[in-house]
Amino acid sequence: MQTNFTAEQLQNPRTQEAESILRTCVHCGLCTATCPTYVLLGDERDSPRGRIYLMKDMFEGGRDASNEVAFHVDRCLSCLSCMTTCPSGVDYMHLVDLARAHIEETHTRPIKERLIRRMLEAVVPDPKRFAWALRLAMLGKPFKGLLGFIGLKEMGAMLDLAGKAGRVGKVVEPGVIPAVGARKKRVALLTGCAQQPLRPAINEATIRLLTHHGVEVVIAEDQGCCGALVHHMGREEQAVEAARRNVDAWTTLMRHEPLDAIIINASGCGTMVKDYGHLLSRDEGYRERAEHIAGITRDITVFMAEIGLRAPERWSDLKVAYHSACSMQHGQRLTIQPRALLEQAGFTVVDIPEGHICCGSAGTYNILQPELAGELRDRKTRNIESVAPDLVAAGNIGCITQLQGENQIPILHTVELLDWALGGPCPEELRGLEGRVKSVRSLLEESEIVENV
Ligand code: SF4
Ligand code: SF4
Repeated sequence: MQTNFTAEQLQNPRTQEAESILRTCVHCGLCTATCPTYVLLGDERDSPRGRIYLMKDMFEGGRDASNEVAFHVDRCLSCLSCMTTCPSGVDYMHLVDLARAHIEETHTRPIKERLIRRMLEAVVPDPKRFAWALRLAMLGKPFKGLLGFIGLKEMGAMLDLAGKAGRVGKVVEPGVIPAVGARKKRVALLTGCAQQPLRPAINEATIRLLTHHGVEVVIAEDQGCCGALVHHMGREEQAVEAARRNVDAWTTLMRHEPLDAIIINASGCGTMVKDYGHLLSRDEGYRERAEHIAGITRDITVFMAEIGLRAPERWSDLKVAYHSACSMQHGQRLTIQPRALLEQAGFTVVDIPEGHICCGSAGTYNILQPELAGELRDRKTRNIESVAPDLVAAGNIGCITQLQGENQIPILHTVELLDWALGGPCPEELRGLEGRVKSVRSLLEESEIVENV
């Protein structure tokens, strides 16, 4: 794509980056077919190509973001499906990040929107605050309809999501959890922000799985939110601050003893941390360390595949529909390991039709864009039901919360299923299915009896 920036404009590193990305787009439009918002709305301005044109026009003109640009960029899920499809390798992720930051700096949103955004960025990244907000939201759930009626549909969406939380989990305290048996590896675990109160079972299962494979797990003293939530809202400075804080926390740990990996069990956070090298690339004091951190960051499933999963202790005929989060399949391009591990653990894994289309969660999208998010959730739910699974597995808390409770099919994190198959406690959602699970020991004993007969 031809661009028209002046030499002066290109002095600005952000404009320079936008320009180099824009030039790679050949406006072929292939990406439109896999873009969820274009599939739903059919408006070119809600497609990747249309948004690229809007962003190009904004950057070239050196203008403040217009209502039109803000409206269509806000509707983008940052699902990155377009990046998987694009034959030209357009780095849409970093382009839309630049646009979101520009919109945030130059565009004044209506007061209600500003208040909701500021509230989200103040509450969600802090697990203790978020836990209190969840408890309050549970009390307020009966007023959900009323909030929608008086024009506060975002607050209604928030109550809806909060209502899906089971027990509100405690925050995992910093410390060292020793390996069971001989220590083979040492890792740091990012415990996440929203994930801790929403579904504490994910970190519990992750820690059990790792320690029972001889891995020492360290929870760093000063680690915090990965920064993805504020980053997606265009708050670049806050995102950079969050990244610096985590880089400091993990490099402090590494001063005492090296880490084999930084483990992440929410793929949205994984995509963000793996991008720390880029986010801090202009920061001399952090660049190298950020690149190292990004380089040793692993999704839990990748790490487990690398070290090798132990043989399962339970065996079942349960059919698992694997929901690949956008941040997993498009953001990190991880498609093989989660499925392979579930199969190794004895589950029958099936794919969900239209697996490339987002479920509508997308960070805070389901709160800020509840109608579109609701349509995508219902579409995903129908697709899940079409393969009639016993349960659904996913590797991202956002998707789990978004899809939970939409039908009778339980949805769990992949590590919860792996942990269960390897001898961990039965997740509450699977209590009704325990009759279909046998212990591997009893199966072996049965086969020995048959052989002896
Ligand atoms: S597929 Fe890639 S090159 Fe083609 S229009 Fe979309 S972003 Fe541009
Ligand atoms: S990130 Fe997703 S929603 Fe946004 S333009 Fe690309 S495919 Fe469409």
